[in-house]
Amino acid sequence: DYALYYAKANRRGTAVLFTEEHERLLRTQSVIEQALRHADLPQELSLVYQPIVDVQSGRTIAFEALARWRSPELGQVSPAVFVPIAERSGLITRITAVLFGQALAAARAWPESVALSFNLSMADIASPQAAAGIVAAVKASGLAPGRVILEATETALIQDVAQAQNVLGTLKANGIAIALDDFGTGYSSLSYVHRLPLDKLKIDRSFISEITTDPASRDIVTSILGLARNLKLCCVVEGIETAEQARLLESLGCVQMQGYHFHRPMGFSDTLNYLDSEAARMIRSVQAVARQQ
Ligand code: C2E
Ligand code: MG
Ligand code: MG
Ligand code: MG
Repeated sequence: DYALYYAKANRRGTAVLFTEEHERLLRTQSVIEQALRHADLPQELSLVYQPIVDVQSGRTIAFEALARWRSPELGQVSPAVFVPIAERSGLITRITAVLFGQALAAARAWPESVALSFNLSMADIASPQAAAGIVAAVKASGLAPGRVILEATETALIQDVAQAQNVLGTLKANGIAIALDDFGTGYSSLSYVHRLPLDKLKIDRSFISEITTDPASRDIVTSILGLARNLKLCCVVEGIETAEQARLLESLGCVQMQGYHFHRPMGFSDTLNYLDSEAARMIRSVQAVARQQ
């Protein structure tokens, strides 16, 4: 049912248009699927990295890897568009394998204090073999498993909670951390969140965009931060675009933050420059404190 697919793919749930609009969309999707099917994945896929910052220490504690696809025929295609199509057409596991290899290699060049946060789809965690493949890839990379955080959405996890418990349990037993992405946008989050072996909740950016103006958004974020504290989960807020949002979130007790206000996603070589200048800034501030004493 394509109309339903569109309604689901379109997360914000805006109007589903049938007829011509719908026809055009179906054609676009099948063009994208064909291009993806014939793509030279290692060549055309790449990753950009967005810092996740601990605002108490001012340090970058992780980079989230975000997929980019440049197709020779279609140009740059957003992951918000091609990931759902790849999921539906069974291409996502190949894409994940290529990207995860790239991401692990990148992370090896970062200091040990900086983790890699990587997005997985439902199919990537759909079987014990899939979990074993992930663990093997981490082992082969030589990266400490404790430096790997895997992000999955609620929708991916609640399809089969028993399976998710099993697979995530394996990952966790191997030292890999699990984050629940886009928290608050899926279904009945609260009924299963305590049954999954999670380490981290990522509060969806839809709550953040209006947090300074809409009391309801602020109440929701406050509740999620409280829930995370009670469940002893760490919490990241994503999509922070302004200093005002960051200040408000800090006053609500939020420590880990991500968003354009801190930095946009950047290419791999820029992550190295970014980390260098962060280290230089840290040294300068330590020296400044030492001089005052
Ligand atoms: P996500 O995992 O929730 O990633 C966060 C998205 O928000 C990214 O979009 C990021 O660029 C964007 N973002 C970060 N800070 C801000 C901000 O301050 N304001 C706004 N407006 N946006 C911000 P992107 O890169 O387009 O990725 C979209 C989604 O595609 C991701 O959402 C994730 O669900 C999926 N995705 C991306 N890369 C991968 C991947 O390698 N594998 C899988 N399975 N999914 C991926
Ligand atoms: Mg994510
Ligand atoms: Mg997210
Ligand atoms: Mg998202």
